[in-house]
Order: sequence, then structure tokens, then C-alpha cells
Amino acid sequence: MNGLLHIDTVKLPFQCIEFVYKYLREAGEAGAECVALWAGVINNSVFEIKNTIIPAQTAYNIEMGLLYSVDGDELHRINMWLYQNGMTLVAQIHSHPREAYHSETDDRYPIMAVVGGLSIVIPDFAFRPFSIKDWAVYRLLPQRGWIKLSEQEVFTLIQIQH
Ligand SMILES: [Zn+2]
Repeated sequence: MNGLLHIDTVKLPFQCIEFVYKYLREAGEAGAECVALWAGVINNSVFEIKNTIIPAQTAYNIEMGLLYSVDGDELHRINMWLYQNGMTLVAQIHSHPREAYHSETDDRYPIMAVVGGLSIVIPDFAFRPFSIKDWAVYRLLPQRGWIKLSEQEVFTLIQIQH
């Protein structure tokens, strides 16, 4: 099983973006980073996002910066829900207070851990109006780990559905 490596198109409904931004902004107003997940179904090489999942999580503010944490029970609950609904995760999305990049912690403790899966980091607690150009999008590749996609690769891969 090659996970999501064969996926060349991710269809992303605009409502899912709005939903995530609203949530990230609310957390950001409280000074917290947080994470959301996008789930959906696979049709050949196309992934259709159907749902946004907001995991129960704890926000931390430690010396190194902000962190979020989702515990094992919650991950189990999410996996059960995915299984029961015939869905798969394709991406995790999280906010940063300022710059969008994959931190060492982000590399080391992803929720999305399937090869070919995506990790999206949104800068400035998502306070800015949505623009996909603001996003830092990473894809988990075998032997290489989380690799940042170029703007062109992001445009080719992610199709926003209005
Ligand atoms: Zn991060």
C-alpha cells in the first residue's frame, strides 16, 4: 500500500477552508495554535475532501513556542469515525502565530502520518483573508520526510471547489 502517493489532485471545498479559518482564528485570538484535519474519499488519483475534523486538543505555550497536542484516545476515536464513514485523512492543517513553516516538532509528531499525505501550515493565526499563497504545504515522501511543495505544485495539486 502506497498510501496517498498516487494522488495527483485534491478537491477542496471552499466551505472547508472557511470552517478551518474560523476555528484557527478563534484559537489565535486566545493566543493558541491549533490543528484541524481534512478527510474524504479516494477516486483513482483524485482525493475529494468531504469533512473537516477538529480534534479535541490541548494548547500549550512553552519556552520554545506554542504547541498543540491530541491524545491517543482522541486519535483512536477519529480513526474509528473514519473507518465507520469510509473516509481517509488527506491533510492536517495548523496555525502558526507568525511565519508558516514545518517546525522540528511538526516534522516529528504529525497526526497525518501516511505517505503522500499533506501538512498545511497557515501563518498569522489565519487572521489574514484566505490566500492559498500564504500556505506552506508539505507532503510526506518515502525516505525524504516532509518536503515543502512549490507554489506551482500546490496550485496543480489542490483544486478549490467554489
Ligand atoms: Zn507548527
